[in-house]
Amino acid sequence: MPELPEVETVVRRLRPTLLGREIEAVEVLDPRFCTPASPERFEGSLSGVTVTEVGRRGKYIVVALSSAQTLLMHLRMTGTLLIDPVVVQGHERLRLNLSGGVTVVFNDPRRFGTGHLLESADVDSYFSSRLGLEPFDRDFTADHFFSLTRDRRSPLKNFLLDQKLVAGIGNIYADEALFRARLHPLRMPRGVTREQAAQLRLGIIDALQAGIDAGGATIDDFRDPDGAWGAYQSEFLVHRREGQGCPECGNVIVRFKVGGRSTYCCEQCQPRPSRVKVSR
Ligand SMILES: [Zn+2]
Repeated sequence: MPELPEVETVVRRLRPTLLGREIEAVEVLDPRFCTPASPERFEGSLSGVTVTEVGRRGKYIVVALSSAQTLLMHLRMTGTLLIDPVVVQGHERLRLNLSGGVTVVFNDPRRFGTGHLLESADVDSYFSSRLGLEPFDRDFTADHFFSLTRDRRSPLKNFLLDQKLVAGIGNIYADEALFRARLHPLRMPRGVTREQAAQLRLGIIDALQAGIDAGGATIDDFRDPDGAWGAYQSEFLVHRREGQGCPECGNVIVRFKVGGRSTYCCEQCQPRPSRVKVSR
């Protein structure tokens, strides 16, 4: 599933292409994409409006429009946004024809991706009830992050995946951040010291920045809007590296499940808490 760096990669490529262009024609090819709005209503709201901003919040792509509405899109499992695609393999969910002859397609084999329109005035409150701070926000300080760890009763891995606490982290970057901070995924947040929390905050920021610098990670379907793969999967330190050597100590990287999610770590560098068993 695309996480913050993958969505940021999409947004950075889409922004210069979409900004200032008029949406001349809209076609919803799968009604599920814009549920609960009807395709007709969704198409009618987007037709003839101009794109005024393209941004990201958490894993959402945020497209502000001249109509005082904002289009929020979420790629979920397998969504991709492609500019002037040559081949779309029959999984088109939305097609936008923009002024200047540009076409943008939302392609999504598994159909979990979504698009919906909000009044632009309501966007901030929509996100504030669903998402924590952005990891690159100046308010995402060590003190703020440490305060989030207090009184949490699920392991660090689950804690990092909770979008209401910190926005944008998914399975890849949670593993990579925990390894960078040398913290075991099954440790309890409330047992983490202030210094360890500060290290984990830096681990989050460093892992996400490395992902952005590499154009995201492609494990299954992720493509940038030009159809190119990300490169970060070749730089993973522990994620998806079960049985291989830890880049720090050479110990074998292990995989187990936390909250149903495959989780990778080096139990030499990230000591398992006492009395905790892992389920493989
Ligand atoms: Zn190690």
